[in-house]
Amino acid sequence: MRDGRKKISRLNLLENGYQVALDMGAHDIVILMLGSTVSGSSTGTHNYPPPTRSIELNEEYDENWTIWLELITHGHTFGNPYNFCTRVDDSTLTSFTITTADTCFWEFLASIATHAEAGAFILLPKSNWDLRLCIPMQPVFGQQPENIHVIWGFALFPKASGNYVQKSMEACSGAQVITEILGHLNYHSTVDDTTTIPRHMPRMSSLLLVRSVADRPEVIPPKTSHLALVGQFVEIPWYSCVDMSYGIRTAQIATSQLTGIPLLDDKHGHTGSTTRSTLRMLFWR
Ligand SMILES: Cc1cc2nc3c(=O)[nH]c(=O)nc-3n(C[C@H](O)[C@H](O)[C@H](O)COP(=O)(O)OP(=O)(O)OC[C@H]3O[C@@H](n4cnc5c(N)ncnc54)[C@H](O)[C@@H]3O)c2cc1C
Repeated sequence: MRDGRKKISRLNLLENGYQVALDMGAHDIVILMLGSTVSGSSTGTHNYPPPTRSIELNEEYDENWTIWLELITHGHTFGNPYNFCTRVDDSTLTSFTITTADTCFWEFLASIATHAEAGAFILLPKSNWDLRLCIPMQPVFGQQPENIHVIWGFALFPKASGNYVQKSMEACSGAQVITEILGHLNYHSTVDDTTTIPRHMPRMSSLLLVRSVADRPEVIPPKTSHLALVGQFVEIPWYSCVDMSYGIRTAQIATSQLTGIPLLDDKHGHTGSTTRSTLRMLFWR
């Protein structure tokens, strides 16, 4: 505490398994990332479902929330991580990628995709899992060969039993996920040279959960010094937090406020794009 303002004097870090204490100098600033939507995620393979794992808060792997949980023991101005990290029944999604060299399958998908700003989407409205496919512009990756196409998608209700595969999506291998998708698409040909990787994400939509006004802390918490908070769980009034630009904006505000560098223009200006962002968010959820 200095001048009535809280300041971080030491960081206790874990580096390569070793505990390291880092003392802060008088002019050092600390920018902390709070939480993550990838917390607790597990990845399966084409032949196996994602491994199930416990997602208790204090387990070692869940380091995504430890800084925030520690911060709230120092005052009421640091928000409420529990609102976001404990409600996995409401925040779980299962996502997947499909990597295919099957030209017929790719051309079929491209022919039925509807175009939207965030990518071309295929909604499968009769799916018990509530499946959505996104067909991004290709190539997605710099080194991606021309004959390979990459698709991603997600399901909002992965605990439900599938329409074509009689089990929950959480318990499905990638091969079973694509079997379910092909059933909904009425695609009866064989799909060759295609790999589907499922990923269970228990906190994927945690950033969109209903919250109280004070659950997200401000970028510069009141009565603190040399400290800023960034990421998708930090408050910026009138911004929708659904995509990458939100975390970037919190970092721009943090560096501007702490160093005096003028705040960059907001290329995703909230006044002009609120409606568009909201529509995109609703489209996703
Ligand atoms: C399937 C999917 C598709 C998406 N598509 C798009 C898209 O098309 N466009 C778009 O703009 N956005 C998209 N998003 C959202 C986008 O991924 C997020 O907005 C972005 O990843 C947020 O970045 P971030 O760095 O703020 O947080 P994160 O990506 O969550 O990264 C934070 C990192 O910090 C780590 N971390 C946190 N705390 C600690 C700690 N104490 N110690 C060590 N490490 C820690 C976390 O483990 C994590 O790796 C998508 C997300 C998903 C899941």
